[in-house]
Amino acid sequence: MSAIAQKFPDARGRYGPYGGRYVPETLMAPIEELECGFAAARADAEFARSLDDLLRHFAGRPTPLQFAARLTAHLGGPRIYLKREDLLHTGAHKINNCLGQGLLAQRMGKSRVIAETGAGQHGVATATVAARLGLACVVYMGREDMERQRLNVFRMRLLGADVVAVDSGSRTLKDAINEAMRDWVTNVRDTHYLLGSVLGPHPYPLMVREFHKVIGEEARAQILRAEGRLPDLLVACVGGGSNSIGLFHAFLADPGVRMLGVEAGGRGHALGEHAVRLAAAAGYGGARPGVLHGTYTYVLQTPEGQIATTHSVSAGLDYPAVGPEHAWLAEEGRAEYTAVDDDAAVDAARSLARIEGIVPALESAHALAELIRRAPAMPREQVVILNVSGRGDKDMEILSRYL
Ligand SMILES: *Cc1c(COP(=O)(O)O)cnc(C)c1O
Repeated sequence: MSAIAQKFPDARGRYGPYGGRYVPETLMAPIEELECGFAAARADAEFARSLDDLLRHFAGRPTPLQFAARLTAHLGGPRIYLKREDLLHTGAHKINNCLGQGLLAQRMGKSRVIAETGAGQHGVATATVAARLGLACVVYMGREDMERQRLNVFRMRLLGADVVAVDSGSRTLKDAINEAMRDWVTNVRDTHYLLGSVLGPHPYPLMVREFHKVIGEEARAQILRAEGRLPDLLVACVGGGSNSIGLFHAFLADPGVRMLGVEAGGRGHALGEHAVRLAAAAGYGGARPGVLHGTYTYVLQTPEGQIATTHSVSAGLDYPAVGPEHAWLAEEGRAEYTAVDDDAAVDAARSLARIEGIVPALESAHALAELIRRAPAMPREQVVILNVSGRGDKDMEILSRYL
């Protein structure tokens, strides 16, 4: 508990054995420059004021903490509150981090941001922020992904971003990440690499968490106002882990608050059919500690150590590694991790649409599905906060095909 209560990684960016900085020599200089730039921004009240102003007037913070009266009655269990990150500009929590890093890039004198994107959600949020701040923006995207996500490619271009097709490897997210890294090394003088989750080499996992912790800080104040006490349980989906750590962080030192992260169980337990890195107890194999994209964490891999392919109906959860802080929270038993499959997530999305009039993102629907499963057996006097990380507009095509 004491190690958890420290709440920060150590000086080398480690959460217990996880995290750190596993990068080639050529990336050390830009990463060290970023670490200094972030430390300076963090201590600067003017930076905090500018970010707060953008979050409030551009992104739409604070987001409501809504009592889900009908869902609560329907499940007959604990009192359920929804943290409405789906109401933010661009439709998900991702804008919190993009605004933070965009403003940081500007403060560091960079005129250009680059990003990689799989389904396009992080690319759209990055392009949006770049436009707002007047930064040039290049988004790397696997050619496969570009074809699958044409509308998002169009949206990014409409916002002025240069979307670059990546033709190497499997032409998906991991190839786009490699390409973005290459760009960064070459153009570091004027370029910031805007990474999209609590992944990558230190200081990214720390920095991205710091830009998302506003979710939990707001929720903590809001639940104290609404209920006069802290919640019993927090529930959030875990892709890279940014919306969940954003909700969890403000409660880590409260021993009475349990935390539950929900991963993508996909369509089966076999390696390649899911994206379950931490909830191994649920019977999903293939994850063990290893290095991916600069950090030491739980990684889905073959027995020979090749990075495994993954599957999820929700693109945002479809990634072979997880943020190192989550690996540590899991190992310490401070947070619990479980998995929900594609079918249950789709069902849950439909339930929230019909019962509360909210169509959640399929990512968020994973968290909801687990809550729907557990709530009937939980005491009625308990209080739960569910993070609705995004809205489901982007998922209409998948949902309509599925239902
Ligand atoms: C990208 C995304 C996620 C997954 O990313 P995390 O870093 O785990 O939060 C979850 N929900 C939505 C709506 C997303 O767009």
